Amino acid sequence: MFDGFAFDRLFIGGEWVKPLGGGVRPSIDPATGAPWGDVAFGGARDIDRAVAAAKAAFEGPWRAMPPWERAALLRNFADLYATQVDALAQIETRDNGRAIRESRGDIGLHSQYYHWFASLADKLGGRTIPMDDSVHAFTTRHPVGVVGAITPWNVPMMAAAWKLGPALAAGCTVVLKPAESTPASSLALAKLFEAAGFPPGVVNVVPGDGTVAGARLVEHPDVAKISFTGEGSTAKTILKTGADTLTRCTFELGGKAPHIIFADADIENALNAATGSAWALCGQSCALGSRVLVERSIYDRVVEAFRERAGRVRVGMPLDPATHMGPQAHAQQLDKTLSYVGIGRDEGAQLVAGGNRIDRDGLTGGYFVEPTVFADVRADMRIAQEEIFGPVAAIIPFDGEDEAVRIANSTPYGLAAGLWSSDTGRAHRVAARIEAGMVWVNTYRYIRWSTPYGGVKQSGWGRENGLEGLDPFLETKTTIISTTGKFPDPFAS
Ligand code: NDP
Repeated sequence: MFDGFAFDRLFIGGEWVKPLGGGVRPSIDPATGAPWGDVAFGGARDIDRAVAAAKAAFEGPWRAMPPWERAALLRNFADLYATQVDALAQIETRDNGRAIRESRGDIGLHSQYYHWFASLADKLGGRTIPMDDSVHAFTTRHPVGVVGAITPWNVPMMAAAWKLGPALAAGCTVVLKPAESTPASSLALAKLFEAAGFPPGVVNVVPGDGTVAGARLVEHPDVAKISFTGEGSTAKTILKTGADTLTRCTFELGGKAPHIIFADADIENALNAATGSAWALCGQSCALGSRVLVERSIYDRVVEAFRERAGRVRVGMPLDPATHMGPQAHAQQLDKTLSYVGIGRDEGAQLVAGGNRIDRDGLTGGYFVEPTVFADVRADMRIAQEEIFGPVAAIIPFDGEDEAVRIANSTPYGLAAGLWSSDTGRAHRVAARIEAGMVWVNTYRYIRWSTPYGGVKQSGWGRENGLEGLDPFLETKTTIISTTGKFPDPFAS
């Protein structure tokens, strides 16, 4: 389907158009540091065109379409998506360097997200509210309107699925603005929406700079809602930009997830999860267990296992199916990760494995970095407090439940947490005390279409996925109808 597909057009109002602003830019392959394709970049005027198309579709064919037909279209799309997993994974991996085995696995799940949301499209009823006999009160639910979906570079297709699935099921129309370093897969996605038969303007895709195209999307008066995944600092800018229009926002932001291993845990399984999660996506995911909290009696054993497993991670070209870990997605992220290695050393943490850029034969020029392990990390060190977004595990010792909980809750973030223990009572006690939107017990990063996902504290506002994932795209209207038609004269006496 994508043979010969050119990424040098924007998808607006059902047409492939040249950018009015922005132009065409090379997209960089992080495995080589060299361009691999030319991608259209839109400016403010392109966003204006896209919003106008989305508004026209919202007020026209999309609103008029019965919800079961909307659902059927979304199912068409989901089925088509399932046939293109390999192609989408290749494109995404070229753009962000994620190992192809991971891209395929992740993108292979997305059609289920679209199917699940499609199945809800015609079930978005309201409720009848018990009142006295003089009125009939009920609620109905309505799409908020045009949605601006702004996505990050680490998981472009996943972030798109989490936003477009519920937005379209709810009856909204969408302008999708992917991250500037990973725009290609979102244009491929547009091609699938076109092929699935969506009316023009329901889905529009405009890659572009965040500070130009993204900012225009946020401030546009016809955009009812921004669904954003990215950094907290960007979310704060978005809040300020959208203040004048009181644009609704949901935010999926960063994390510094604690992965807590108690001494009574099944250690091998805990290690599988903890090491896998430390280095998945080359460390570039918000829910990874980047802080590993280990009960002191098993601390040395866990540190040694991390050191040994770091040596087994096959870092290599991301399109090679044998590769476990690809490069960092862009040069700035590589610099950021390496700078945190320096910070960790300066803070007195013990570098047990990795810490260097990899520049060996075959990987020269790419943004590769070694899987990295710091031991003897204190909870207040910067490498334990700040999101690095690189393959850097910070292993912190603790004594007992209270200290584990205190350390787990000691960062500004509250996205996800994991805990490993064979004591069910402890699992409940600790899970209940952790400040996070998600807690996994004796498993990690189990994320599905039906399980609400999102953070507390500085990790975000609102939830994606699950039934809760539809709420931000819907308004509730309360209608109250008199059964008597009588209204007393307030000035009768
Ligand atoms: P950024 O916040 O830098 O960018 C996210 C998106 O926002 C990009 O499309 C970006 O465009 C755009 N943007 C930038 N500035 C503005 C602006 N002023 N107005 C509107 N849009 C703007 O995040 P990253 O792409 O660096 O993604 C990494 C972050 O995402 C990490 O902190 C990570 O934890 C978080 N994340 C959270 C997830 C979650 O579910 N909680 C999941 C995945 C990632 P441009 O690319 O041009 O800058």
